[in-house]
Amino acid sequence: MKFYSLNHKAPNISFQKAVVNGIAPDRGLYFPEIITPLPANFYQNIEDYSNQEIAHELIKQFVGDEIPETDLKKIIEETLSFDFPLIEIEKDVFSLELFHGPTMAFKDVGARFMARCLSYFNKNKTNELTVLVATSGDTGGAVASGFLGVKGVQVVILYPSGKVSTVQEKQLTTLGKNIKALEVTGTFDDCQDMVKTAFLDKEITDKMQLTSANSINVARWLPQMFYFAFAYKQLKNKEKNIIFSIPSGNYGNICAGMMTKQLGLPIAHFVAATNANRVVPNYMETGNYEPMKSIQTISNAMDVGDPSNFIRIQKIYKNSFKVLKKDLSSYSFTDYETREAMLKIHNESNYIADPHGAVGYLGLKKYLNNRSNIQGIFLETAHPVKFLDIVEPVINKTIEFPPQIMQVIDKKKVALSIDNYEQLKEFLLK
Ligand SMILES: *Cc1c(COP(=O)(O)O)cnc(C)c1O
Repeated sequence: MKFYSLNHKAPNISFQKAVVNGIAPDRGLYFPEIITPLPANFYQNIEDYSNQEIAHELIKQFVGDEIPETDLKKIIEETLSFDFPLIEIEKDVFSLELFHGPTMAFKDVGARFMARCLSYFNKNKTNELTVLVATSGDTGGAVASGFLGVKGVQVVILYPSGKVSTVQEKQLTTLGKNIKALEVTGTFDDCQDMVKTAFLDKEITDKMQLTSANSINVARWLPQMFYFAFAYKQLKNKEKNIIFSIPSGNYGNICAGMMTKQLGLPIAHFVAATNANRVVPNYMETGNYEPMKSIQTISNAMDVGDPSNFIRIQKIYKNSFKVLKKDLSSYSFTDYETREAMLKIHNESNYIADPHGAVGYLGLKKYLNNRSNIQGIFLETAHPVKFLDIVEPVINKTIEFPPQIMQVIDKKKVALSIDNYEQLKEFLLK
């Protein structure tokens, strides 16, 4: 399979190259040249397939022959070593729990898949590759865990000092080995700017092969398609219309859902639910896409002012606002509404949602209002323990640490503090 740059000023390249490069030389995002739907009977018989088989069917056309079938199946097997339960919390309202992986956020699947692809591509080479990534919280942990011990890959994670949760900080600063954490005096945007500058710095790129590990990378983005099919498999009633509400920040996850619809999964509608960062809700209202500076909220993984994957969504919908509008609604919610939703879900359904899942729930309920014959699924993208400081006071209850968190919470943090780009550069070049 070939991938092309959505800026159309770079050569078309293989899956392998797209994974290694991350972003095209013209700064465009890679997109597959062809998308071929799977046969209808695959979806009709989906309950007969294991999660690993479903994943393989969905992704194989994008990998092509660049990873042989047996190796690709092994990568998938290792990536998906945990469950994705679908829980009905109200009649026709389901939570798809994507937090049962090692770092308890949905980003585990993409990070684990990408790490194993890179490791496969690097298996006969001695070339070191450096994954450089900025995180507002969850990406760092998922990438650190996914890439831990992967041969030939060094990982450098930048995170904003004091702006990630305690659990998140432990997850990205305690693993050691090939994982290095840099604690940046500044905001997530500052971290992101430094990473972008490094990618364009010839003194660095002449010396080392850099790649990114955010949802810009096709190997992190595409495996997110699996979730939507796993949810469909678990639905008992497949006759009623199915809609998904996705708490969205960089819009990678929802865009993967739209890809599964392109592949034939019967999804009637998507809801992009978000916090005060309402670029996309505004766009769906007015047709004008106006990026803004990010606003800090309690659902901080969605504090994004210019979602990088939105351009892929526009591509899927042929750059037509009219066509997109048929499939997508988008709503924004305040922190106050998010806390109210967490409390309501806890009181009425005896279920604990994290702030991102609660935003997803709100989006779903808003869409379902006054509509009938629909069942809705919201993605629960992180375990509430990752946002303990926010969730506990709202529900007035202590959340116990699951084993994955117990493993890191008492470990010693190791991070190098940096204040500016020069220090990052010095660190990378030494
Ligand atoms: C990253 C993240 C999101 C946003 O996902 P996108 O693919 O960037 O839209 C939502 N919730 C949680 C918990 C996350 O970590």
